[in-house]
Amino acid sequence: MTDSIRTLIMGGAQGYMIELTRYLAAAGGVTLVLWLGARWTESRRIQLRTPDFADWQHEVINSLITMVTFAASTMLTIALARMGIIHVSMAAPPIWLAGVEFVAVVIAHDAYFYWMHRALHLKALFRRAHMTHHMSRTPTPWAAYSFAPIEAAFEAAFLPLFLLIVPFHALVVLAFLLHQIIRNVIGHSGHELAWSGFTRSRWTGWLTTTTHHDLHHSEGRHNFGLYFTWWDRMMGTEHPRYHEKFEAIVTDRPALTPSSG
Ligand SMILES: [Zn+2]
Ligand SMILES: [Zn+2]
Repeated sequence: MTDSIRTLIMGGAQGYMIELTRYLAAAGGVTLVLWLGARWTESRRIQLRTPDFADWQHEVINSLITMVTFAASTMLTIALARMGIIHVSMAAPPIWLAGVEFVAVVIAHDAYFYWMHRALHLKALFRRAHMTHHMSRTPTPWAAYSFAPIEAAFEAAFLPLFLLIVPFHALVVLAFLLHQIIRNVIGHSGHELAWSGFTRSRWTGWLTTTTHHDLHHSEGRHNFGLYFTWWDRMMGTEHPRYHEKFEAIVTDRPALTPSSG
């Protein structure tokens, strides 16, 4: 075995372990919080249907497979940086610059995700690329990476593509990756922990809630956004009863989600 092949395998294994740690820590952490706070969080369950072992198994197995693609993308990004094709500085940026870079990458990822997600719902792509993710009708935190390989490749392509255009700091990339997995896991947690009025407030209504993405899983025709509600509102794809369903959950009225039976 040549040194370069050995380095490639070691790098891939390391990349996979980093992805696995990120996934286990985030999905495990949110599961633990929901379990420890069950007295309160149970009343915030979005659907009446409880995910069973088969749901959980499907989500974990597909996430483990997805992480192979994510590790490959990490290796590609590192290789491109070493070749000088993308520019990622290892130095600590000034706080203001870190803030600007973080906001820019999150807004760019939100736009990329919305349009990629709309494309994945086209007839030509849905069965092959996105149905695996939608097999989670009642998602759990473990659905965060439950993608078909084609969707995993689309998801993983964002960061190297973004870094090809914008020079960046490694610390901000790390913060972005942490933010991404935490928001992703919360969006699939099946419990609404935000408060009444959250979706209509001018201060918080632009952030997506767990109900927002849960409605996408249970009904599939609205709410394509990731972090923000902007794109869905601009493009007319927000669920017409989003606010009503959200309020029903957080004010302890019976859940209204159709797949709740
Ligand atoms: Zn979808
Ligand atoms: Zn989802």
